[in-house]
Amino acid sequence: MRYISTRGHAPVLSFEEAMLTGLARDGGLYVPESWPQMTAGQIADLAGAPYEEVAYRVMRPFIGDAFTDDEFRGAIARAYAGFRSEARVPLAQYAPGRFLAELHHGPTLAFKDVAMQLIGQLFDLALTRAGKRVTIVGATSGDTGSAAIEAFRGLSSVDVFILYPHGRVSEVQRRQMTTPVEDNVHAIAVEGDFDDCQARVKDMFNDFAFRDAVNLAAVNSINWARVLAQTVYFFTTAVALGAPHRAVSFSVPTGNFGDIFAGYVAKRMGLPVERLIVATNLNDILHRTIESGSYRKEGVHPSISPSMDIQVSSNFERLLFDLYDREGDAVSRLMDELRAGGGFTLSQGALSRLRAEFDSARASEEETKATIATMFEQNEMVICPHTAVGVHAADAVHGSRRTPVVSLATAHAAKFPDAVEEACGQRPGLPVHMADLYERPERVQVVANDLATLETLIKDTRT
Ligand SMILES: *Cc1c(COP(=O)(O)O)cnc(C)c1O
Repeated sequence: MRYISTRGHAPVLSFEEAMLTGLARDGGLYVPESWPQMTAGQIADLAGAPYEEVAYRVMRPFIGDAFTDDEFRGAIARAYAGFRSEARVPLAQYAPGRFLAELHHGPTLAFKDVAMQLIGQLFDLALTRAGKRVTIVGATSGDTGSAAIEAFRGLSSVDVFILYPHGRVSEVQRRQMTTPVEDNVHAIAVEGDFDDCQARVKDMFNDFAFRDAVNLAAVNSINWARVLAQTVYFFTTAVALGAPHRAVSFSVPTGNFGDIFAGYVAKRMGLPVERLIVATNLNDILHRTIESGSYRKEGVHPSISPSMDIQVSSNFERLLFDLYDREGDAVSRLMDELRAGGGFTLSQGALSRLRAEFDSARASEEETKATIATMFEQNEMVICPHTAVGVHAADAVHGSRRTPVVSLATAHAAKFPDAVEEACGQRPGLPVHMADLYERPERVQVVANDLATLETLIKDTRT
């Protein structure tokens, strides 16, 4: 399998190269040259298999010869061994035809672990084999950063620098990033919002001298390997609910469009997914795009679901590439318009293809809180605000359809205890393995939102 850029003017890469590189040199994102197919028979055969086995079968066609079968199976096994559920991603039913896929049983209590734990293993295999070292720089709205630090701490082949918006992540998220003691992991609080952090990471990738000097690599949601690892749980949950014989819909709390794009990939591979519901909080650029066809930036509004407080959804570019018949020049033009004028309008053809796959709904802060309260009153389930946005959207959009709808439970409620307590009167406690999080000493640098300052800091503090 080979990987091409969504903007059509970067070298074609192998899986390993695309994974280690992140952003393409023409500013685009890497996507596979074609979508591997799974037949109904192959999907039916996944029923009852362990998560790791499904992961192996779903991802194997994308890997090419990057790893041997044994290496790849070993990496998958190590990645998920630390999850606090034998199922890895268990399903819970909360109403007739309504389910939660619990993606928060990994070490940092959010779905980012599912991909990041695997990426840590794959990077380590690839780099150790090549005798190389890389500097991973990532932007986070809270959950990616802690997942990356957790996945890479102590690995000798990498330094990790995580940029997060100062004062705009929850205390649990911050402490998960600032308390690990290994000196190859570094938390940086940037004086700006998440989009500033993400923009500075992109700037570093476009500064080729810096990029080459530190061997820059990315593991945020633009990294293809992350999207790939996330396709797996769409398969495990759909199959548990009757696929391929019965279609399933998914409601996905969406920020950077990585998680829901993984659902789209699963569908392209042959999984019978009826609707993909884009669930947004008040930062609703994707909801507005699906409603109006116009993708237009607005300021970022802080919300109680901070991991979705973003203005621009990076991975949407991957979908645009398909919506525009995989023509890199068309995507490039849209991205130029976005940079120059703050937005672009989809062609009629692209918009109708978008609407053929995706529904959307936006949850206000009040609706999010009301959903948390209702879930507790009706089911005694304590859910996180992001999950609540998804549950709200499933109700708003799916109505009385008979197809089962799975809302992705993207984080554990204990990551956002204040918002959850305010909404439903229950203060969620941390799981046992991190009960002492509030006592551990923190280590963080607060830095101006300035490229040169950040680059110097990174150069000087690499181990
Ligand atoms: C990252 C994150 C999201 C959004 O996922 P995207 O892939 O960026 O769309 C939703 N919920 C939680 C808890 C997250 O950490």
